[in-house]
Amino acid sequence: MVSTLAKQQRAVKFNVIWQACIGCSACVGVCPQPRPFVSAFDTIAVETPCEIACMRCVEVCPTSAITFQKLQHEAQAVEEAQN
Ligand code: SF4
Ligand code: SF4
Repeated sequence: MVSTLAKQQRAVKFNVIWQACIGCSACVGVCPQPRPFVSAFDTIAVETPCEIACMRCVEVCPTSAITFQKLQHEAQAVEEAQN
């Protein structure tokens, strides 16, 4: 259970500023996710939390179109529910 919590604490959820995205798919190209992790616009997924959180997608984006939110609050909620 500790490892599950650790993963959840690292999870991030991404947003793409669509006006800034040029559709180069560089973010998808560097993503090590073992499953398809893409949006309908061929960027990394924007609604699914990423537990790997390597942040390569953010670093590679040539237009800084990718923003993210850390999901630490959800992990804390899970932790509290278990106590
Ligand atoms: S943080 Fe890493 S694993 Fe997660 S979507 Fe971005 S490139 Fe893929
Ligand atoms: S790397 Fe940036 S500009 Fe390229 S597809 Fe992904 S979000 Fe869009």
